[in-house]
Amino acid sequence: MDRRALLLGTVFAVAGAALPLRAQDARIEAVASFTILADFVREVGGDRVRVVSLVPDNGDAHVFEPKPSDAAAIARARLLVVNGLGFDAWAERLARSARYSGALVVAGRDVRRVEAKADSHGHGGRDRTDPHGWQDPKDAAVYVRAIRDGLIGIDPAGRAEYEKRAADYLARLEALDAEIRALLAPIPAERRRIVTAHDAFTRFGKAYGIEFIGLHGLSTESAPNAKDVAAVISRIRKEKAGAVFFENMGDERIVDRIAQETGARIGGTLYGDALGGEVRSYIELMRHNAAAIARALR
Ligand SMILES: [Zn+2]
Repeated sequence: MDRRALLLGTVFAVAGAALPLRAQDARIEAVASFTILADFVREVGGDRVRVVSLVPDNGDAHVFEPKPSDAAAIARARLLVVNGLGFDAWAERLARSARYSGALVVAGRDVRRVEAKADSHGHGGRDRTDPHGWQDPKDAAVYVRAIRDGLIGIDPAGRAEYEKRAADYLARLEALDAEIRALLAPIPAERRRIVTAHDAFTRFGKAYGIEFIGLHGLSTESAPNAKDVAAVISRIRKEKAGAVFFENMGDERIVDRIAQETGARIGGTLYGDALGGEVRSYIELMRHNAAAIARALR
């Protein structure tokens, strides 16, 4: 082997070794305020994006208190994805205090306005719209499109990939919607009433014809007082809720008490505002909730 070939060989070997590293470094750093948004970013971004969620698995975004490491994660990121609608206002405050200069996607900004229940006493943003947009796959599609456009904005070279991945995922959301509709269709009209810890499921209820009674109102910030609980108990006795559900990020004692005092069946756990446990993705979350409701109300 002559000297030149040897030299070339060395150059190729070095370049070859450097490639995977470079591909990794080139990934877009994204931060999502909570786990469900992070899943959407992962679905659309694929290998081009690395995303972290500030609120952890089973965490409660309504009452989240960011740590210094969360500010540091935002400061490093090129894309910040938040829900908006008053759900995670702390995330934008954190971005300001971290002097974040990257792109911001308010993923829930363009979802349909669904009025929060009049008796909700938590916050739901200034216009009182229900901020839990992901609880209806049709609204989740709005989030996905906003995230797709945000990624294209900061990484135009990835446009084709983001468009393809988003289109595939949107098709899966449509199939998910049809699947849930079919699963819940046989539930008799008089059984379509459920008690949950907080009002996360208004959009799910509208989409699939289930009435949800939330104990905490729209946010988990305020604990229900004795009067609220007594009112819910008498309402359940009168209207016969089919089941009472825990939430994966919620306080279980209140649900237990309601079940004991009303004799309503405990239907298990619904995933409201966070992934966690065996529920690793948004699609798994919706499937889990629909299956649990179908089982409890049949
Ligand atoms: Zn919530």
